[in-house]
Amino acid sequence: MISPVLPTYARAPLHFTHGEGTWLTDENGRRFLDLGSGIAVNALGHAAPELVSALTEQAGKIWHLSNLYEIPQQEALATKLVDESFADTVFFTNSGTESCELAVKMARKYWYEKGHPEKIEILTFEGCFHGRSSAAIAASGAEKMVKGFGPLLEGFVHLPWGDHDALNAAITEKTAAILIEPLQGEGGIRPLPDQCLKGLRDLCDEKGVLLILDEVQCGVGRTGKLFAHEWAGVTPDIMMVAKGIGGGFPLGAVLATEEAASGMTLGTHGSTYGGNPLGCAVGLALLNVVSDPAFLDAVNARAGLLRQKLEGLVAAHPDVFEGVRGTGLMLGIRCKIAPSDVVKAGYEAAVITVPAADNIVRLLPPLNITEEEIAEAINRLDRAATALESA
Ligand SMILES: *Cc1c(COP(=O)(O)O)cnc(C)c1O
Repeated sequence: MISPVLPTYARAPLHFTHGEGTWLTDENGRRFLDLGSGIAVNALGHAAPELVSALTEQAGKIWHLSNLYEIPQQEALATKLVDESFADTVFFTNSGTESCELAVKMARKYWYEKGHPEKIEILTFEGCFHGRSSAAIAASGAEKMVKGFGPLLEGFVHLPWGDHDALNAAITEKTAAILIEPLQGEGGIRPLPDQCLKGLRDLCDEKGVLLILDEVQCGVGRTGKLFAHEWAGVTPDIMMVAKGIGGGFPLGAVLATEEAASGMTLGTHGSTYGGNPLGCAVGLALLNVVSDPAFLDAVNARAGLLRQKLEGLVAAHPDVFEGVRGTGLMLGIRCKIAPSDVVKAGYEAAVITVPAADNIVRLLPPLNITEEEIAEAINRLDRAATALESA
């Protein structure tokens, strides 16, 4: 008999009842170190005081307002995002998937309004993940996501990773945009080298193609810059954000230049909940913390420490691990055994990690994880690896 909850997830038998910072407590009072952050969502950890007060203060005033009216919290968050980024304008959504939908619509509408209705194709890359709507799974093209769900949204061209010739050959008069994650998350913490992102920007400028970056997982301080593309010193035309920006409240956004957004005129897009006062109050409180250069410096310091300790862990367990990759606090340990087994052994040692493709176990801890917690996390991962070796 089917479960009351649609059984699309293989859930671990863990029942957490509350969280505080980097810690999650289960129903038996056992405390787990959370290096997953709900997949890069709880950017300031669980029950962050700044976010709890922003949420509860707003909850006592107004939860929801239609976008038919002015929403000062939304204007404040949009202004902050514009001040802190390449963008001139922002549309708020409730998830990364919705941000993907708008990014695709915006790119196509841009070319349509410019008198190029033939420019509809969007180039994407092997291993990418952009969400679960019909458009977002079409963008990925991965068999396990699309099988049985057709017909899908047309116009996506899937390219191999790192194949410059294939990329050049794929750009035609029909190309509207290139859509890419600066650091792939689900695909296995696979980085796009800064040189390649610069090259993509140049290629887009040369060929007249929009550059859409998906920073849903790698954005909002995760890599040690407010947005990951800042490492390469280039900017996109359109950027998708979600996950970390709400710190646990469902919130997403599409950021764009005035030019790229120029097709999105009155009535061309909307959302009932997107930009609601609750989400925007939380998002602003979070961004006020994370955009502080001193906070980002501290993220980089913590990331350096974690990275160094992980290299030691990998060296100590050559039968289990083979390397570390990623940027900032978005790190992957490449495993020689099934990453799901490593994640399970972590549960036994009360440390939470997340598997990804390409034999990767992901570490996406809260951005404010402490040095003591990093040391304890390594102890627990070491215990998990030792248990796997003797199994
Ligand atoms: C999680 C994720 C999405 C989808 O976000 P949802 O909020 O689950 O819809 C899109 N892109 C990337 C890179 C992601 O990691």
